[in-house]
Amino acid sequence: KIEVAALRKSFGDHAVLRDINFRVDAGQVVVLLGPSGSGKSTLLRCLNLLVVPDGGRVRVGGDGFDFGAGQRLPDRRSLARFRANTGMVFQQFNLFPHMTALENVMEGPRTVRRTPRAEAEALARDLLRRVGLEDRAAEYPSRLSGGQKQRVAIARALAMRPEVMLFDEATSALDPELVGEVLAVIQQLAAEGMTMVIVTHEIAFARDVADRVVFMRDGVVVEEGPPAQVIDAPQQAATRSFLSHFH
Ligand code: ATP
Ligand code: MG
Repeated sequence: KIEVAALRKSFGDHAVLRDINFRVDAGQVVVLLGPSGSGKSTLLRCLNLLVVPDGGRVRVGGDGFDFGAGQRLPDRRSLARFRANTGMVFQQFNLFPHMTALENVMEGPRTVRRTPRAEAEALARDLLRRVGLEDRAAEYPSRLSGGQKQRVAIARALAMRPEVMLFDEATSALDPELVGEVLAVIQQLAAEGMTMVIVTHEIAFARDVADRVVFMRDGVVVEEGPPAQVIDAPQQAATRSFLSHFH
């Protein structure tokens, strides 16, 4: 599970996150919606401390940190351990171009976890099968479609056996006909009980997959609740205005 309390982050004098409070129970899926610049990516990056918050608390699983006046920043080892709790998938696929799909998925367990080769390979093959790519294991990224690359990226994140998965517009860079195959994999993870926070502009998908939808604007949570409320019957003018761009 994830807990965020009184989270703050500024870049210079621009307050990008202002007192964010946010909770995701184990097995829940939360979709983050909001206009460009509202702080969605920054919030996700605070969840794995790719961005270090100025204040507040971040907990993932049993592990967490407090930030702000009087708090010491976590050292590199505790940061690395904390980051291993989360798997993150970005808009750009970020695969290693000189490694095959299989090697990309094996890389984390091999280098970070020191998993023996045979065991890492068995795990990687199993994960590639789960994302429907067992027959592409030996291909290099340059020979995979965008949707296939993104599914390898998901398998690679899962290979570290994270407690939660974070998706930041994982389908935004894909040709429209490739979006569905990636959403299907995310949907399958949800059905298997993976805890996830998903930033997406696919509103129909959000309605399907989310237990809760959080709508952000200007660094604050404006509205949150089940999709039937936030997407289909938004209470706030800002939420209605944002959603009106999608239908
Ligand atoms: P989008 O939908 O366009 O991805 P977003 O909701 O993900 O937007 P963020 O990327 O979190 O928004 O950015 C929020 C604000 O913080 C923006 O004004 C952005 O310019 C600023 N920002 C983000 N990262 C940095 C950084 N490293 N340095 C300075 N400003 C930043
Ligand atoms: Mg973003």
